[in-house]
Amino acid sequence: MNLLNLKNKTVIITGGASGIGKAAAILLASQGANIVIADLDQEGGSQLEHQLQSSGTKAIFHKTDVSNSHQVNELVEITLSTFDTIDILVNCAGVSGLSAYNDLIEEEWDWTLDTNLKGTHLLCNTVSKVMIEREIKGRIVNISSINDQIPVAGITAYATSKAAISGLSRSLALELAPYGINVNTIRPGAINTPMMKEILELPSLAKELLKQIPRGRIGRPEDVAKVILFLISDLAEWVTGAEIPVAGGMHLVGETSYLYYFEKEMQHEEKLPDIPFTRPWKNYNILDFINGHDEE
Ligand code: NAP
Repeated sequence: MNLLNLKNKTVIITGGASGIGKAAAILLASQGANIVIADLDQEGGSQLEHQLQSSGTKAIFHKTDVSNSHQVNELVEITLSTFDTIDILVNCAGVSGLSAYNDLIEEEWDWTLDTNLKGTHLLCNTVSKVMIEREIKGRIVNISSINDQIPVAGITAYATSKAAISGLSRSLALELAPYGINVNTIRPGAINTPMMKEILELPSLAKELLKQIPRGRIGRPEDVAKVILFLISDLAEWVTGAEIPVAGGMHLVGETSYLYYFEKEMQHEEKLPDIPFTRPWKNYNILDFINGHDEE
């Protein structure tokens, strides 16, 4: 009995060129799924397409901005013309800036909410219509974050988008259940991907983050990919509307302020992280309201 039952199933993975999405593409391909990588990253997407095809997987990369409905429609049309079905959708595309809330500008807010929330909505909306029309008992996995509930100073727009993704997934799980379509949410903790590069390269912050992960290591993209595999497999046939933290226990502890550590290091280095929308926040008196971080 094949409990995973992924052979020849067609999966769209947004953000599939990097990090968690890439790990998911590789794992699902290894189980016989056809893979559609949808990402802005042309180079990473094409490379992965080639890698998967070389190992015998039916895979295509289609450059897609998930926040653009025309491009999402085009992605769905290309997937149907290539594979004639869409069985599974995994929404991994995501971005985050790093700004104190009072420094947050409209462009950062729009970029974050458009990519993370509107992108997830557009994909769910377009793909679920196809699944319903064709009576496909589909599977949808949305990637939220433990920051949907746990606040971290410096990522308000991101945390807002993730809280909304979790809410969207719950409503969608309810509405799509009568069609046999399962919708589930994964809430990763700190995972070592390009999105977290700047955070994890700051030694004091990486050390602090480790203290907040009871299992004692930073997560790997494969840790999340394995739970995606479970949720889209026959093993999770009766699971819908679930929200699963994949965080090594980090969601039980809470998370430190990223800004605090950059601010502290900047006093010595005068260096800003290479994270979109980051600006100096020297006038931002974060130390006043962060508890438990006494100066050494
Ligand atoms: P990642 O390595 O940066 O991968 C994200 C991918 O999404 C990148 O290839 C990126 O392309 C792509 N992307 C960005 N904007 C897009 C758009 N508008 N349309 C299509 N693709 C777009 O990040 P990751 O860590 O694997 O993140 C995957 C998901 O997990 C995200 O939703 C993230 O919020 C979530 N998550 C991550 C962590 C973590 O610790 N890493 C924790 C909790 C949740 P470009 O590189 O070209 O921008």
